[in-house]
Amino acid sequence: MMTGSEYIESLRALKTEVYFMGERVDAPVDHPAIRPHVNAAAVTYDLAHDPQGRDLARATSHLTGREINRWTHVPQSQEDLVKKVKMLRIAGRVTGTCFQRCVGMDALITLESVTHDIDKKHGTGYHERLEKFLVATQDADLMSDGAMTDPKGDRSKRPAEQPDPDVFVRVVERRTDGIVVRGAKMHQTGAVNSHQFIVMPGQALAADEKDYAVVFAVPADAPGVIQVFGRQVNDSRKWEGEIDQGNARYGVVGGEALVIFDDVFVPWERVFMCGETEFAGTLVERFTAYHRQNYGGCKSGNLDVLIGATVAVADVQGTAKASHVRDKLAEMAHLAETMFSGALACSYECQKLPSGTMLPDPVFANTAKFNVARYYPEVTRLAQDIGGGFLGTMVSERELSNPRVADFVRKYYKTRADVSAEERIRLGRLIENMTGATPIVECMHGAGSPQAQKVVVQRLTDWAAKRKLAERVAGIERATS
Ligand SMILES: Cc1cc2nc3c(=O)[nH]c(=O)nc-3n(C[C@H](O)[C@H](O)[C@H](O)COP(=O)(O)OP(=O)(O)OC[C@H]3O[C@@H](n4cnc5c(N)ncnc54)[C@H](O)[C@@H]3O)c2cc1C
Repeated sequence: MMTGSEYIESLRALKTEVYFMGERVDAPVDHPAIRPHVNAAAVTYDLAHDPQGRDLARATSHLTGREINRWTHVPQSQEDLVKKVKMLRIAGRVTGTCFQRCVGMDALITLESVTHDIDKKHGTGYHERLEKFLVATQDADLMSDGAMTDPKGDRSKRPAEQPDPDVFVRVVERRTDGIVVRGAKMHQTGAVNSHQFIVMPGQALAADEKDYAVVFAVPADAPGVIQVFGRQVNDSRKWEGEIDQGNARYGVVGGEALVIFDDVFVPWERVFMCGETEFAGTLVERFTAYHRQNYGGCKSGNLDVLIGATVAVADVQGTAKASHVRDKLAEMAHLAETMFSGALACSYECQKLPSGTMLPDPVFANTAKFNVARYYPEVTRLAQDIGGGFLGTMVSERELSNPRVADFVRKYYKTRADVSAEERIRLGRLIENMTGATPIVECMHGAGSPQAQKVVVQRLTDWAAKRKLAERVAGIERATS
């Protein structure tokens, strides 16, 4: 198992084609816009070597019996699912942001069961291929980008109806040695610091959409893979200084990229679905159950940091004992624990799939993610309420060394006599970082927009049974046929 520094070094060997702000980035690892996200992903490696985290961050491979990093493990038991959530909360606490590696983990987990089911129906050989790939990923302790979200073009049209057929990843050529794929995936978390991509369809597909029913893996530096790293709010602060970033070590959110597949060749041994349209929906359902399970873990860990920063800023500003502040802090903790409880509940209420993989309860998993989309912004609202207006108006850290104004800044930003103005500003910048647009958009749309969670809950809820319960309690008699 790699350490965080070994992981960072391993990325240097990749010849990825990455662009940012109009220029090619030769060494993504060292680029100031990217490095914090690399550091955050490195935590997933370091945790496996940390005496406090190793029990959660290590697992035994069900394929080889070897000890592996849990971020490459396929859950075989209820305990595995619970440990996954607890591990995510710890990593969320350490980084205060997204550490990215869970998307690829969930892709591996999902494909283990889906390839099993496709083979059972069609007699294909995907499962054996996938397991070879899984063992290679586990043994080399690789970070995978889980690539599901297509650009999707006009949302009212099916993939084949789009004016541009490439807005959903598709097979453009089938050869004896492999396939050629074209298209792109949007918002790819941790893409620029992943070793490989696992590409999957993002929605259920109809029988005539075979070219879009494709799952494959490619190295991050495969010819034709082009990445364009996205901008974030205030990202130029990353090359301006440290304090103003709020979380200079780990950044904000995961660092997302547009990943383009410009006629990329994939050998058959890395193709795990090709044309089996009826399994695309199953794949998406299972992937989202795992991925929505995660959000209750990692985001409650992030909120532990935000709540801690709010406690500290209230203390520094002399408001910590006020009853309304304590009440708001309690509400923040209540919301974070509700998110975590959902993630744990879906893990405990799991089922074993025919492949032996454990699946969290989909209704609870979707509820957990839905709560994240609602509660994370609610917690940020309370943090901003307690923090005060300086969260939105702070002067630059450069003023702290500007001879004309530095003393004035320290004098007027000072609150409690025993606390420096810089400490208050650092807390304020952290709260600003964690309550800004980017993390809120991530909580809203990451792992699917809220409506996608509602659709699952609507579909899986037995409305008639609930109505019957009510009618019985209300004393309404109905003739049964
Ligand atoms: C920070 C971040 C990180 C992410 N990381 C990853 C990642 O690592 N891998 C990955 O694959 N994806 C990732 N995603 C993508 C994420 O899963 C998508 O953003 C999400 O599924 C929503 O898709 P979209 O952004 O295309 O929005 P849209 O699908 O366009 O949704 C916007 C709104 O339109 C509604 N809508 C969409 N289609 C229809 C329709 N046909 N009819 C009616 N209403 C509709 C939605 O309900 C929503 O309200 C990430 C997203 C974010 C923000």
